[in-house]
Amino acid sequence: MSKKLTVLAAATHPDDVEVDCAGTLIRYVKEGHKVYIAIACTGNVGSKIHTGPEIEAIRAIEAQKGADVIGAELIHWDFKDAEVWLNDTTWKRYVDLIRMTNPDVIITMERDEYVHDHTNVGELAYRAAIWASTANIPGTEYPPIDHIPTVFRMETTGTYRNAPPDYYVDITNEFEQKLEAFKQHASQHGDFLEKQFGVKDWNEYISVVNKLRGFQCGCKYAEAFRMVNTWPNQKAYRLLPPVQYGTED
Ligand SMILES: [Zn+2]
Repeated sequence: MSKKLTVLAAATHPDDVEVDCAGTLIRYVKEGHKVYIAIACTGNVGSKIHTGPEIEAIRAIEAQKGADVIGAELIHWDFKDAEVWLNDTTWKRYVDLIRMTNPDVIITMERDEYVHDHTNVGELAYRAAIWASTANIPGTEYPPIDHIPTVFRMETTGTYRNAPPDYYVDITNEFEQKLEAFKQHASQHGDFLEKQFGVKDWNEYISVVNKLRGFQCGCKYAEAFRMVNTWPNQKAYRLLPPVQYGTED
């Protein structure tokens, strides 16, 4: 496909994208497409040693560094963790986000998530995608876009078992850069993720999941997605980066 795409990764917390779909975003960037990362929450609960304001400030810097490694433009909102709710005001914020970024592809959170702010961001981004192209929505700032973006759901820690993927992206050549992006979230390594979830080495989790998905689709490392296939989001052509044949290793 020669058309250059705009991609919006609508995530909840500062490191969601790095864990779940950074390899795919890096591929988009490498192929000349425009990528936005929109993070809803500050990450204020993501520490057991820092105060809320302290960890928010740390994670804002980490999120920017992660986006820089990926090559994406970062939009970081100020919802507190767990405080993204399905309401009119927040839904209109997502309508305006989609209008402002004008994406062809939206990659967002899964539905049946382990935390409700993941689920709600996924629902809001999906439910705003169609309406971003309609006129006369009161209280919105940006004009309607001229198309309906296709929505994919990234595979997350909480859903990899109960939401079988239907799209795979070969990230073998992007895997090290993905780990480098995740490395920028230093506050989450050895502190929060281990103390909260008992996972000492999150890089190992990423490696295991991406290797499993790679095994399933015939490459070394892959990320997995599910397309929202409700009318009229889906298209008759592929919008995720295609598999590279002849990948080394
Ligand atoms: Zn998260």
